[in-house]
Amino acid sequence: MAWDFSTEPEFQEQLDWVADFCVNEIEPLDLVFPGAAWSRNPKARALADPLKQQVKDRGLWALFLDKDLGGPGFGQLKLALLNEILGRYRSAPVMFGTAAPDTGNMEMLAAYGTPEQKERWLTPLLNQEIFSAYSMTEPQGGSDPNLFKTHAVRDGDEWVISGEKWFTSAGERADIIFVMCTNGMFVVPHETPGVEIMDFPRLHNHIRYNNVRVPADHLLGPEDGAKVLAQRRLGGGRIHHAMRTVAQVRLAFDMMCERALSRESHGKVIAEHQMVQEAIADTYAEINMLRLLVLWTAWTIDNSSTREARTQIAACKYTMGKVLREVSYRALHMMGSLGTTNLTPLQAMYAGAPTMAIADGVDEVHKVTVARNVLKGYQPHEGLWPTEYIPAKRDQARKKFEGLIAADPELAAWADAAVRHAERG
Ligand SMILES: Cc1cc2nc3c(=O)[nH]c(=O)nc-3n(C[C@H](O)[C@H](O)[C@H](O)COP(=O)(O)OP(=O)(O)OC[C@H]3O[C@@H](n4cnc5c(N)ncnc54)[C@H](O)[C@@H]3O)c2cc1C
Repeated sequence: MAWDFSTEPEFQEQLDWVADFCVNEIEPLDLVFPGAAWSRNPKARALADPLKQQVKDRGLWALFLDKDLGGPGFGQLKLALLNEILGRYRSAPVMFGTAAPDTGNMEMLAAYGTPEQKERWLTPLLNQEIFSAYSMTEPQGGSDPNLFKTHAVRDGDEWVISGEKWFTSAGERADIIFVMCTNGMFVVPHETPGVEIMDFPRLHNHIRYNNVRVPADHLLGPEDGAKVLAQRRLGGGRIHHAMRTVAQVRLAFDMMCERALSRESHGKVIAEHQMVQEAIADTYAEINMLRLLVLWTAWTIDNSSTREARTQIAACKYTMGKVLREVSYRALHMMGSLGTTNLTPLQAMYAGAPTMAIADGVDEVHKVTVARNVLKGYQPHEGLWPTEYIPAKRDQARKKFEGLIAADPELAAWADAAVRHAERG
């Protein structure tokens, strides 16, 4: 019987260390030197690098990579428990080598890269000597990959890439960009002539690829394999976002509960007002529903594969945005006027909820995936009545007792009366 909700003591010890490390080392650095973890400024790096080394020394670096892909092989369940802590602190995912978009790109490289490609890009990505971005979405269409136009043409020993992408997160500061073309996934070094970064949007870049020439060995995976690689990349990314969202909503909940016990109104602390209690009770249940969905999905991935867990991952994807929106709104509301400012994390958290519902594929598309896959397990009913139409079911069931009912009129009469009684409700 393996339905066990406990964490093994050795790993719990690691998690306790992580929680402590985040509070005492990462959060102070984030507050005083925001962005130091990914900065190229040598002085800022000198503050962050020793912390990363401590994480490595504890064997907690880049936990997202499974053993067959060259990682420590802790699995997704342990990663989920780790991310439930890290997601609370801005730079913690970078400090632990588990930050998007690098994680998904590394997964792709680990799964589809040749030994040379891994040595050239995966190793430095893992060591955070370089950073990456992922260029898939195009201005004319994001949800439907059939609308993408960016294309590569083979010219001797090179590929020539032409097209336009946008919302390439961190494209501007990435050393290499994974560019999804209609005929393959390519790794494009940022400095390659023809890579043109537009002025807007600033963080999630609009990039033109103007006849960008890359050597033939910059094709990752098979020719025409971009959609398969993208699925692989995005599946992992979505569940990692969901794990970190659990951390965010728990932070909002902590703030909500502290506030409920601290603030007075109309003669009592607001925790004693029933509508506040309702908000706390609903939030408690919603967070745990999301958390269990995420942990169950992580467990499924560990016990099968990302592909097998596709329906669950999609369900996590649209549930996390909804729970984040509801919980952050309630916490913000309970904080009163202070909640509407940027002096607590709540306003940014609430503003981030729509992003969760759009980035990595809009929720609608994931709901379609879930509905389609779930419906594969069902059949239309035969005849006029639904399977659970009670009178038809009862007629069917009576056949099982036909002999008994025919032989015992008293029992038959009792059965008729009992049914009439049950029908009256
Ligand atoms: C913060 C952020 C970071 C991002 N980072 C990256 C990145 O690093 N790399 C990258 O390539 N992309 C990135 N994206 C882009 C993201 O993947 C796309 O925004 C997403 O796929 C949706 O595409 P779109 O914006 O063109 O929306 P559209 O496809 O135009 O969809 C708009 C709306 O149309 C409706 N809709 C669309 N399709 C359907 C459907 N099938 N059924 C029902 N309704 C539908 C929905 O209401 C949807 O919200 C990022 C986006 C954000 C917001």
